[in-house]
Amino acid sequence: MTNPPRSQSTNAIHAGAQRPRPQGAVVTPIYQTSTYEYHGEGYDDIGYIRLSTTPNHRVLGRRIAVLEGTEDALVLASGMAAIAGSLFSVLSAGDHVLVQDTLYGGTASFIEDDMKRFNIDHSVINPQDPSSWVEALTPKTKAVYVETLTNPLVQLADLEAVVTFAKEHGLVSLIDNTFASPINFRPAEFGFDLVIESCTKYMNGHSDIVAGSVAGSASLVASVKGFNNHFGGSLDPHAAFLLERGLKTIALRVKEQGKSAIRIAKALEDHPAVSVVHYPGLESHAQHERATRLLDGFGGMLSFELVGDVSYADEFLSAMTVPTVAVSLGGIESLIVRPAQSTHASLSVEQLEKIGLSDKLIRLSVGLEDVHDLIADLTSALEIAKGRVST
Ligand code: PLP
Repeated sequence: MTNPPRSQSTNAIHAGAQRPRPQGAVVTPIYQTSTYEYHGEGYDDIGYIRLSTTPNHRVLGRRIAVLEGTEDALVLASGMAAIAGSLFSVLSAGDHVLVQDTLYGGTASFIEDDMKRFNIDHSVINPQDPSSWVEALTPKTKAVYVETLTNPLVQLADLEAVVTFAKEHGLVSLIDNTFASPINFRPAEFGFDLVIESCTKYMNGHSDIVAGSVAGSASLVASVKGFNNHFGGSLDPHAAFLLERGLKTIALRVKEQGKSAIRIAKALEDHPAVSVVHYPGLESHAQHERATRLLDGFGGMLSFELVGDVSYADEFLSAMTVPTVAVSLGGIESLIVRPAQSTHASLSVEQLEKIGLSDKLIRLSVGLEDVHDLIADLTSALEIAKGRVST
């Protein structure tokens, strides 16, 4: 008799764990050793931290592969190590890649500045308009790169069309799934080739490390690993230990954050001081139908604008007492920022306008605080800020 497939909650705790348990340990110990006794392995399998071959790396690789539903996975030193490593593994000098118009700033700069220096060119595509993509193809196009939910407007690309298009034109499809996490979306089930997570965010969930992961076929993951063996972006064993600990609660955390986020989004939408709310769980969201169909949950990220000018937004941020004003996301503590001033500060006013990002926009990463406390804090900060700007 075969056991039924296990749920993500169970897999997040047990999948890929060492068996037999080393010394009976219930938790994977931190293997704080750079090198391991040699038994004649090939170079890629020699036990060494930089080669991502320690037990801490291997447990995480197996667990993340199960969570993403892929053949293999690899953990790396940061989300950016995973993104840069994946793109540099799939593309060579002279190649061309199609990229979504709004991407995480670090990724956008890497593609615009660093990849160009290595003669890898790109074209920007509108992820909502598949009919326009064919015009952007060149004989050198090798890959297409998108994000599940964009930062900070939480838009959802036509992901099914991206996969169909990639298969039709022989492109490798890469997706940054950080905002959704494998709890809410598993891109490989839809046919994406390489799935990237900044594990700094929901995967770890405690804002205490940076880490990244790449999941896909064994051959694609091996090529990212081969590149990283020389690039050097491997995860430290202590950070790997913390990532494994954080990952165990991902299902619980992400579901709870999603439940709070929809309540907060609705409360903000009904508030007269709020002019617009972006959250895929709201019926007013442009891709709400697609999000309902593709995602298992709408996530803990939302953004909104207040009536009035940017000074109201800034006073509001400084009046908040529960969320911390800080970049990053996906942790158990709520974080809030004005992207034009922080995460997207490197973009010019024209670039911000082009991606529809207003100077006033506020982004909230909903944590695990009691939702009533969060709504009460947001509502009272709106009042306090109103008083400050009108005096
Ligand atoms: N992808 C997304 C969507 C992000 O928001 C970030 C960081 O904020 C990254 C990738 C980069 O991750 P890391 O900071 O772990 O390198």
